[in-house]
Amino acid sequence: MCQAIPQLFAQGIRRLDALVVSHRDDDHASGLNDLYASHRPKVVYTSYRAAGLDTQFCRLGQSWVWDGVWFRFLYPFAPSPETWTLGANEDSCVLEIIDRGGRRLLLTGDIPIAVEDEMVGRMPWLHANAPSRSSSAMVVMAPHHGSRGSTSEELLQALRPRAAIAQAGYRNRFGHPHADVLQRLSDENVILLRTDWFGAIRLSWSVEGEPVFACARAERARLWHRPRPLGASAAQEQAMFARYCAVQPPSIFQATPRTWLAWGEQR
Ligand SMILES: [Zn+2]
Repeated sequence: MCQAIPQLFAQGIRRLDALVVSHRDDDHASGLNDLYASHRPKVVYTSYRAAGLDTQFCRLGQSWVWDGVWFRFLYPFAPSPETWTLGANEDSCVLEIIDRGGRRLLLTGDIPIAVEDEMVGRMPWLHANAPSRSSSAMVVMAPHHGSRGSTSEELLQALRPRAAIAQAGYRNRFGHPHADVLQRLSDENVILLRTDWFGAIRLSWSVEGEPVFACARAERARLWHRPRPLGASAAQEQAMFARYCAVQPPSIFQATPRTWLAWGEQR
């Protein structure tokens, strides 16, 4: 999370209205104290007790509206924080964000399949997202970075998301996203955006209701330090960016000394 601080400052964001920390694991919660000090969020939602910080427990039923955009927690269900195991994967805050046009983003933390099943079983209205995949207005964060024990077929069939985003480090030691998850997404025709390939991903929606993805690794491409997906050729990589990302990285064949200079100046 420490890496979020310079990112926020770079975007001119100096205060946060709210901060959600899904659970206690380091890849989600480390740096919370620093971020709390630097950006002084008005409210912090978590699924565990963060020592020394004034936090609220996330839970089903909490919701708020900002500028016509609806935020609501779908999980945990537990009525009392005392009943939780305090910050494990299965306690993750799950947040749904819905705009006026019904376009939805589901942030799932690290929930395992058992929680996915519970959510789908207890909230049948989640199934009503869209009659078909092509008309779906939902993007979902693949739970637990795309690990094998999450993103079940049942979840994908219930939610019918148009696209999924797998948050995973380049050549991460866990092998996220897992091959089984890639297969499930492919079987259900869900577009997958991977941060290990595309870098940070910004989601917006076109007026026609199509999700538009801005990929940091394409927008800030440098020919000399852009890592390529393992095993992919330059042509495959180029095709991948062309398929998913709104802005394309420059091709080595298009690069001239002038464009190299221009990128240097942008830095
Ligand atoms: Zn995690």
